[in-house]
Amino acid sequence: MTGTPVPRYDLLEMAAYDSMSVQFSRGCPFQCEFCDIIVLYGRKPRTKTPAQLLAELQRLYDLGWRGGVFMVDDNFIGNKRNVKLLLPELKKWQAERGYPFRFDTEASLDLADDDELIDMMLDCNFAAVFMGIETPDTDSLQLTKKFQNMRSPLLEAIDKVTGKGLRVIAGFIVGFDGEKPGAGDRIVAFAEATGIPTTTFAMLQALPHTALWHRLEKEGRLRAADGNINQTTLMNFVPTRPVEDIAREYVEAFCALYEPVQYLNRVHRYFLKLGAPRVQTPFQWPAWVVVRALLIVAWRQGVKRSTRGLFWHHLFDILRRNPGVLEQYVTVCAHNEHFLEYRDIVRQQIEAQLAAYTQETETTTRPVAAALVEV
Ligand code: SF4
Repeated sequence: MTGTPVPRYDLLEMAAYDSMSVQFSRGCPFQCEFCDIIVLYGRKPRTKTPAQLLAELQRLYDLGWRGGVFMVDDNFIGNKRNVKLLLPELKKWQAERGYPFRFDTEASLDLADDDELIDMMLDCNFAAVFMGIETPDTDSLQLTKKFQNMRSPLLEAIDKVTGKGLRVIAGFIVGFDGEKPGAGDRIVAFAEATGIPTTTFAMLQALPHTALWHRLEKEGRLRAADGNINQTTLMNFVPTRPVEDIAREYVEAFCALYEPVQYLNRVHRYFLKLGAPRVQTPFQWPAWVVVRALLIVAWRQGVKRSTRGLFWHHLFDILRRNPGVLEQYVTVCAHNEHFLEYRDIVRQQIEAQLAAYTQETETTTRPVAAALVEV
């Protein structure tokens, strides 16, 4: 990592982006059974030096970039010692330039146990953190070796991070071995209870060379050697309950999460408890892509859609009760423009794959059944 050159950000057409990407570390110390990060990058997180990362940020700054920067680490807090060496320097760098960047990142849930680290991130203007919650089912967390999510109650951990001022984006998965029916509903109920607005939600996949992949291969349950983590992909292995049931629960839960009224109410509840940003950033004229997105949201959600009354009510309520989070609030409302369309795509593609799967299963099992009848 310490030999990595500054990326050629100058080759990017920056106006086409909502946020830039930088990376401080690779690897993660945990051992989730389905995870390919630890296969690709190892369980000993390696980092760049603070000076290296600041040089990358300086390059972005010199190229005129302002606004969102995604710290695309596998687990930003995987090496807490080094990240705590970085953050004071990052805070100084940001303060000297009037906080030109707002950071998002990915981190494991044990972040909730480290107040000092959360505070340090907030002081650097971190705004959102992706966390792999995976499932509220403790049996599944145990089975998939996601022990770090079992140390303290999930709800409390998320509320704590949220209350401090980091918006949580959750990763959810259905299809674990031994999972009881209703897993999709339990995920929706969990999102509703926490208020988490946006998620990456998918059916479990066995990615090549992960511990899960090796186990399933040994058990003869892999359907395809490859897997991907697209939200539109059917599982690539034979699960312990009917795949049709899992797929149906998944599609219904995905659609429920982004149903317009449910989404607006959830986002509103969440942003009332989200801590306001700690640093004061100077006003900057938003880029054209941002203005365009805001106009689309105002038109579709504030005029066209039947939920327009709810939209304006919640917007003014946030403005009155928690104005510091308003900008993020509108952005997250805008995300549903994507999800509303995407949930139809998820439904269509999963149903098409399911039909092909059923046909394939019938074709392979029919000769066996016929032979049995003959016997
Ligand atoms: S915490 Fe995330 S990155 Fe780390 S092993 Fe688990 S799934 Fe992989």
